[in-house]
Amino acid sequence: MELEQLQSVENLHAFCGRVLGHAGRRGNAVVYPCPFGTHSKPHLEVVEYRGKGRWKCWACDRSGDIFDLYAAMNGVDVKSRFHEAVEGVCGVLGVSYREERTTPRKSRKNARAGASRRRAKKAALAEAEDMPPAPAFLGAEDAAALEECRERLRNDRGLARELLGELGLSVWLATVCTEPGTGLPLIGATEDRRLVYLYSAPDETGRMKLTGAKLRRRGGMRNARLRLEGGAWKEYGLMDAPPDDLKGGARFVSLCGKCCQPWGMGAARDRQTVIVTEGESDCLAMVEAVEWLRETYGLDPETGRPYETAAGSLESMLPAVVAVPGVSGFRKGWASLFSGKNVIVAMDGDEAGRKAAAVLVEALSGLGAVRSWTPPEEYKDARKMLLSAGPRALCEAVFSVMSNTGRGHEQ
Ligand SMILES: [Zn+2]
Repeated sequence: MELEQLQSVENLHAFCGRVLGHAGRRGNAVVYPCPFGTHSKPHLEVVEYRGKGRWKCWACDRSGDIFDLYAAMNGVDVKSRFHEAVEGVCGVLGVSYREERTTPRKSRKNARAGASRRRAKKAALAEAEDMPPAPAFLGAEDAAALEECRERLRNDRGLARELLGELGLSVWLATVCTEPGTGLPLIGATEDRRLVYLYSAPDETGRMKLTGAKLRRRGGMRNARLRLEGGAWKEYGLMDAPPDDLKGGARFVSLCGKCCQPWGMGAARDRQTVIVTEGESDCLAMVEAVEWLRETYGLDPETGRPYETAAGSLESMLPAVVAVPGVSGFRKGWASLFSGKNVIVAMDGDEAGRKAAAVLVEALSGLGAVRSWTPPEEYKDARKMLLSAGPRALCEAVFSVMSNTGRGHEQ
């Protein structure tokens, strides 16, 4: 992306949605919570002016463009360290900056004036290749049917205990992973009590919306293949293998839509470190371990407030956990979502897992600090390790690969 594109009102909305929180409406104006003043009501308005996004807080009377906002929030002097603001903005938006490296160091005026047509074309081509594909959101009926699945699992403790218990996971994951808007991986259950993985992606205002869903086969029951169309459930055959079929049927079927970004990627927006797992159930195991850590050490026992060190709160240091659907599921274009992050690629220890890890490390190298972790030999995957060794051992094992990671750029 080049400078002028970064300054678009769409990007300013995406940026504000990610760093400031949900947009609200005041009359015709779109407003966000302001990061500067002490006012609790959102007063920071975003408008389009001469083709560019501008913001203004009516309470503090501060204003500017996307770079000014990043700079002011991060204590960066936008005139002398403009390139830092550009990199920071790119990091938040998950895009890569496509100018020659020397350009951002020029004065801002020159840099803007210097965007030539040739470069614009080059940038557009590079962007088409590297950008995540624009997410396709589900229609209202399908989204509503899936929200029903999410609510079903959220409200039925017995069902959650059955489904998560069968995976060796804790029942309270059903509380953590069914809360919409957190960006965490979302799960639900069909009416016939099977686990559903819900995929979402941010819209232009940064709000997470559903893009698709996948159904997991369950043992000990008849598993109809389901399809969701216009909010109606349709059956077509079975996921279970007939007795003479050696291939073993289908462990998963797509219910509708697509996985437009790694599962749980929404929670990675505010985190410096991201663990990339192989498949959804491993992701859940890792989320359980990290959430256990938060529950155990998240609050300072003396103050009852979020625990903080000089480096920041535990909250900001905790990794986000995302899943790529299957070993070969990583899509070209997703790499830019990890720009500027510390990434831990956590795949299975088997040959397929090691190969997938190598491919992923290659795809992500150059964007941030990338490390690879595989479970100790006695465990097949992270889920087995969680089950046998417990959340603390799993966290410690995964975090140990971070210990010599250099600090990436801060957001
Ligand atoms: Zn303000």
